[in-house]
Formats: sequence, C-alpha cells, structure tokens
Amino acid sequence: MSVFIPRYLVPFHPKNVPHWFTDVLVIGGGLAGLRAANAVDPRQSVLVVTKEQLELSNSSWAQGGIAGVIDPEDRFENHIADTLSAGGGLCDEAVVEMVVREAPRRIQELISWGTAFDSKAGELTLGREGGHSHNRIVHALGDATGREIMRAVIERSRHQGNLRIWERCFTLDLLTHEGACRGALVHDARHGLLLVWAKQTILATGGAGQIFRETTNPAVATGDGHALAFRAGGALRDMEFMQFHPTVLYIAGSSRSLITEAIRGEGAWLVDRHGYRFMPEYHPRAELAPRDVVSQAIVSQMEKTRHACVYLDLSHLDAQFVRQRFPGIAASCAQFGLDITKDRIPVRPGAHYIIGGVAVDLEGRTSVPGLWAAGEVTSSGLHGANRLASNSLLEGLVYGAHAGEGASRAASRMPDRYQPLPLDNPIATQPPEPLDLADIRNSLKSIMWREVGVRREANGLAEAAAQLETWWRYVLVRQFADPDGWELQNLLTLSRIMVASALLREESRGTHLRTDFPAIDDQHWKRHLSFGRSANGELEQVGE
Ligand SMILES: Cc1cc2nc3c(=O)[nH]c(=O)nc-3n(C[C@H](O)[C@H](O)[C@H](O)COP(=O)(O)OP(=O)(O)OC[C@H]3O[C@@H](n4cnc5c(N)ncnc54)[C@H](O)[C@@H]3O)c2cc1C
Repeated sequence: MSVFIPRYLVPFHPKNVPHWFTDVLVIGGGLAGLRAANAVDPRQSVLVVTKEQLELSNSSWAQGGIAGVIDPEDRFENHIADTLSAGGGLCDEAVVEMVVREAPRRIQELISWGTAFDSKAGELTLGREGGHSHNRIVHALGDATGREIMRAVIERSRHQGNLRIWERCFTLDLLTHEGACRGALVHDARHGLLLVWAKQTILATGGAGQIFRETTNPAVATGDGHALAFRAGGALRDMEFMQFHPTVLYIAGSSRSLITEAIRGEGAWLVDRHGYRFMPEYHPRAELAPRDVVSQAIVSQMEKTRHACVYLDLSHLDAQFVRQRFPGIAASCAQFGLDITKDRIPVRPGAHYIIGGVAVDLEGRTSVPGLWAAGEVTSSGLHGANRLASNSLLEGLVYGAHAGEGASRAASRMPDRYQPLPLDNPIATQPPEPLDLADIRNSLKSIMWREVGVRREANGLAEAAAQLETWWRYVLVRQFADPDGWELQNLLTLSRIMVASALLREESRGTHLRTDFPAIDDQHWKRHLSFGRSANGELEQVGE
C-alpha cells in the first residue's frame, strides 16, 4: 500500500489554461446528472459535462425498468422489506424508507416530462424482477426503458435556458482549495485543458463495469468519478461489493448484452446444458432469487456440468407475448440465429453494478464541502451489500433531485466571483515513455475477472493485489495526454481499492462471496469498509 497516488493526473497552471465560471457544475449526463441539473433554480447557470455523447450512459442502456409502489395491492413496507432483504444487513434503513416512499412521485414526474411507460387501458403495466415480492417495475418500449426515459429527460434538458451541455468533455480531476471543491479540470479535443470554476459541483459519473473482462456496462463506465473524488480527499465506501448480473448473453463474437431479469420475472427458466432447471435447488424463489444468489448458482452449475454457460428457456411461454414483451432481446438473439420463443439463450454472469462509491448523506452531500454526488458513483446506503433490481434508476432520480436542490440552495448563498484560485499542479512533465495501454487494460480486466469476480479467496486476491501494485508503480506516476491513459489510471485506482476491501472482508455477504469464508459473520463484519488517500498520498483505510 505504499505507492504514491498523485493528487492531480496532469500538470496545469491557471496562466496557461482557459477558464469558465458557472454556479453549478454537473459532471455526468446520465439520469442522475440530468435530474440534478433540472433541479437547479432556473436563475442559476448549470454546466453539464459528459465524456461521450449524451446518449451514451448506463442510464440509456437500462432495460428492466424502475421500481415503485404503484399497484394498490402493494405497500411501501413490502418494497422496503425487499430492499433490506437483498441488502444483506448493510442497508441504511432511513435511506431505504426515503427512496421507496419517493418512488411513485419520481416516476410520475418522468411521465409529466414525456416518458411513455408501457401501459394497458390507461394503467401502467407493472413487471416483476428478482427479489421483488410484488409487481412494481414500470418499463418502456418493452425492454428499452433507459432509452425512452433518457430520450424524454435529454429533450427536456436541452430546452432549459440555464443549462449548458458540453459533450465529449472529459473530467480529469476536481479542483480543491482549502479543503473545499471549487470545480473541475476538464479536457476536450478542441480546447485541450480547461478550468471550470463552480460554486457547487455535483458528481454523477455512473459505474465502473469496465474494470472486469465480462461486463454489461458501456465503454464510458470506467469509474472516473470514483477515482477523482478519491484523489480529491473523498473516501470510497463498500468497494468490495460489485453486483454481477446473472444473465449476460454468451455467444462468441457478440457484444455481452444483458438479458434482463424481467425475462425471469415473466416466467423464463434457467436450465443447464442437460436441460435441467436447477434454480429451485439453490433458493426457494428459484429464478426470482436475489441476483447474487442466481449468479453464484449459475457459476456452481457451470462447474458441476463442466460447461461455459447455462441457458434461459422461454419455450413454455406464449410466443407472441415473448416477442412483444422483449423485442430488443429477440432481435439481438435473432442476429445469431436464435429464436427466443423456441431456442435456449446461452448466458453467464457479468459485472453489472458497482455498489461501492462516494459516501453521501440523505441530501446527496459528500464529505468534501462544495461536492455533491448522485447515482451509481455514490454509496448512499440504499443497496447495502446487494442492489435490488430496478432500484438504481430510482436512486439516481431521488438523489439527483436532492443533490441538485441542495447544490442550488448552497450556490445561491455564494456571491459571484470571476477570479481563478491560486491552484496549480507543478509536477514537471516526464517525457512519456511509450506504454501499451491496451495491453495493461486487458490484463487488468482479466485478472479482476479471474480473481475478484463472482467468487473470491485470499490467495487469488493477494495475487491480484501484488500485480496491481506493480502496475500502479509505473502507471499512476506517469502523465498522459488523453483519456486512454487517464481512464487506465482510474481503473487501476479503483481495482486496487476493490481488492483491498475484498481481502479485508473475511466473510460472504451480498455480492461478496469468499469461498474461504463462506458464512456471513455479523459479529465482525456488519459494518462498512472505506478507503481514502492519506495526507502523504498513499492508500489508507479510513474509519466509518
Ligand atoms: C445494461 C444495463 C441495464 C440496466 N438495467 C437497469 C434497470 O432496468 N433498472 C435499474 O434501475 N437500473 C438498471 N441498470 C443500472 C442503471 O442503468 C445505472 O445504475 C444508472 O443508470 C446509473 O445512472 P447514473 O446517472 O449514475 O450514471 P450513467 O447513466 O452511467 O451516466 C454517467 C455519465 O457520466 C459521464 N462521465 C463518466 N465519466 C466521466 C468523465 N471522466 N468526465 C465527464 N463525464 C463523465 C458519462 O459520459 C455519462 O454521461 C442497468 C445498467 C446496465 C449497464
């Protein structure tokens, strides 16, 4: 753990870079970021930066939907109980209660912004997913919920007069002065480096699935926000908890697309290579057991049958219904000659959702003054040790709204000032020695998948830690000139923290399965683990 972590990734000086001033800076234009931007008082200026085009985010890729108590037969208490049960004893009950009770209002808000959720005879159609005791998932375009929600939210955002959006603008680091966040250092291909000074900053950079070889996440999910908050003095909490989606399409040459949990909610079975339906052996809720249980069961069954995948079987369901309800999946499988109404779909687990992140309070405030956060980059306490399906878009909406309102209130109390602060990063630039970044990235993803994936144990984790430390020594100290290098530095930072947390937690809980400590151990481990950057730039465990 004695490797120096630089505070800023690149050298800069205020005399050499252009400046921009805004009331509120939102880093990330997924659902959480745009919801936050829309919560800012229209009299204040908001700048949203996204590292790719706005349409490319985990939010746009969401399939299943958003959970909320809408059916009169359902109760808030049920949704709360299901969330707590999935969370394996680490949820913050006050957070769960707040988010669940706000869900119907936030869903209604999306409808009023133009989202067309699937409905029948004027009533929202409610699906069910693993871990939910009732039908409570609103969805859109069958299995393209994220695309429809983001269409409506992006359209609304583009029409807000106070809101400016910079796409393909990479945020490298948060600017901090006297312990508070003052904006960010960003880079775009046209202008190069730029200092954005903000009265308040909201981090909404999403997930980090790209740490792993097998993932459902888009290429933008490299955990940049986690890493830059960490470098700026924020602690990262619960980083050992990575949710693996049980059913990711496994066809050589195909992209690893997710096969939504809703498909099991509608009655699909999981069968092994021999056609045996194995889930009832592993959990009383069979295919609708929480995700970690299903992922772990699939890995066990793959081992038992010595086969690289298992299969989803929908052949016993009504073919017309299946095609209508899951048009996207039917189309992706058809490209490989599979008819999902008849043929079995080959699947296996893939990294899906990072539960750990920047700790926030109920308002979305982080421990760094002037910095707020919302969405997948956070550790809000909603998910505990495992996320209940369809609770994350909801979390992004709730925390986006809170962080946006809070940041807006705080910014309104601050006077305008158009002077840069005396901040610079005087590290002398070393001539960059050529490094094969793609090679390191692929090796990183492979070792993380092999040793820090669905199953973990001490020897494998220690091997991963040693390898990561070697890479840290020569990658973290270098200065790169473009996002490929910065992303690799961020991926390495997060991986190292994930491994350190996973090694420490000597028990199995939620998504964290230690084969050498298979039982849950409330006496020692019913608590959170957090890591920060020490005053002398090293990785250190910090207290709760
Ligand atoms: C395939 C798939 C299906 C899913 N299905 C569901 C579902 O059905 N229901 C559900 O609740 N959840 C689902 N999830 C999870 C959910 O989509 C995400 O947790 C949620 O959308 C995260 O939203 P976000 O706004 O926090 O981040 P994102 O939507 O990922 O947005 C992140 C934003 O940050 C920007 N960004 C990142 N790094 C930088 C940087 N360095 N500089 C500038 N900008 C940056 C990106 O460009 C992007 O705009 C799914 C996820 C995937 C991958």
